[in-house]
Amino acid sequence: MPRIAVYPGSFDPITNGHLDIVRRARRLFDRVILTVAANSSKSSTFSVAERVRLAKACVAGLGGVEVDTFDGLLVDYLRRKGSRVIIRGVRAVSDMEYEFQMASMNRAIYPEVESVFLMPDERYTYLSSSIIKEVARMGAHVEDYLPVPVLAAVKRRFARRKRK
Ligand code: ADP
Repeated sequence: MPRIAVYPGSFDPITNGHLDIVRRARRLFDRVILTVAANSSKSSTFSVAERVRLAKACVAGLGGVEVDTFDGLLVDYLRRKGSRVIIRGVRAVSDMEYEFQMASMNRAIYPEVESVFLMPDERYTYLSSSIIKEVARMGAHVEDYLPVPVLAAVKRRFARRKRK
């Protein structure tokens, strides 16, 4: 049986920090499914279809990594995919507060599930999609933090907004 891990998130948009976690997860599992949450309560900058398209472009060269989207309960999605592993990235101890709550809830509704927390390279510990969008909107250079396909999309998005 291949060992399948699911990496859920908003990925609005996917950053080098997310990709670092994908690569680490892939070293531990045969298949990694990066899945974009379609029903998140967070308001998003990019549509689900755009987030999926960008993530696909970024993982195109990585064998054993797929991109998908899910709606509804994450544990139901895991069951459908035949996976018992949730990957989450942890940048700082402060991330754990929320992650611990989520992992405990997921375990309560799906006892066989394990949440696996991975630390990114230290270059990415202060990186989040929202901070990138905030500084990109004001014209900062974000080349070091975003994969090439995302860089272009972010530039286009904020250039368009400026013109409006
Ligand atoms: P969510 O809304 O589910 O938190 P995100 O796209 O913000 O979605 O994050 C998805 C996962 O990736 C989370 O586990 C988050 O902690 C992790 N993550 C986000 N940015 C980074 C980063 N720079 N390094 C490592 N993990 C990260």
